[in-house]
Amino acid sequence: MFIDTHTHLYLENFDKDREDIIARCKEKGVHKLFLPNIDNTTLSSVKKLANNNPEICFAMNGLHPCYVKENVEEVLEVLKEDFSNYEYAAVGEIGIDFYWDTTYTEEQICAFKKQINWSSELKLPFVIHSRSSLDLTIRIVGDAVCIPNQCIFHCFDGTVEHANKIIDMGMKMGIGGPITYKKSKLVDVIRSIDLKHIVLETDSPYLTPSPHRGERNESSYLPLVAKRIADIKEVSIEEVAEVTSENAKKVLSNIDL
Ligand SMILES: [Zn+2]
Ligand SMILES: [Zn+2]
Repeated sequence: MFIDTHTHLYLENFDKDREDIIARCKEKGVHKLFLPNIDNTTLSSVKKLANNNPEICFAMNGLHPCYVKENVEEVLEVLKEDFSNYEYAAVGEIGIDFYWDTTYTEEQICAFKKQINWSSELKLPFVIHSRSSLDLTIRIVGDAVCIPNQCIFHCFDGTVEHANKIIDMGMKMGIGGPITYKKSKLVDVIRSIDLKHIVLETDSPYLTPSPHRGERNESSYLPLVAKRIADIKEVSIEEVAEVTSENAKKVLSNIDL
């Protein structure tokens, strides 16, 4: 069994064929899908998809760093409130993104810290989005007091050194489509770390693996990521499926998979 720990299947990119994708996932052995939230406008779609597919889709709740704006406090309040109404799998996706915009640097950092605290308070794991900010993100996570559970550095794109810091904190790294790209710098990282630190993800509709690059991504492509990792590690794809699914179950442990 494969677990896609990160897909935005609730977005309108999938409105026309969402059920077909879920059917294709089943055919390919991708049996569990975790849905990271983006902001207050997407939360109802996340929950609707999870409610319609209670055995397959699991909702997360958090504010994506690219959507932190001047109204951040209000949005956080709305999101926080909803943890008392719904059983979420994790706090996510949260973090820091300096790639697109640094206008709200202070607000991003503050929202990230606040949401890590929610995770402690609610005893939920958290899922991190970090782009052009990995050193800072690792520092903030390292400094965060009383992390109850674990977290996933989703779409990890750092160095071996970054990976080792994350491993030392007992956290996992989400690996997706980019590992299948020619000249991916991640190959050296995957080669040097143990499979037990990795979970699989698509981040669909983004980051489509080869040979579908340029098309919309979907969770049924997850075995392509697993196959590439299997080739790099010189193990079977079954082993990658088994170990990464066990890892996902450990991190996202409040959901009985
Ligand atoms: Zn992300
Ligand atoms: Zn995402």
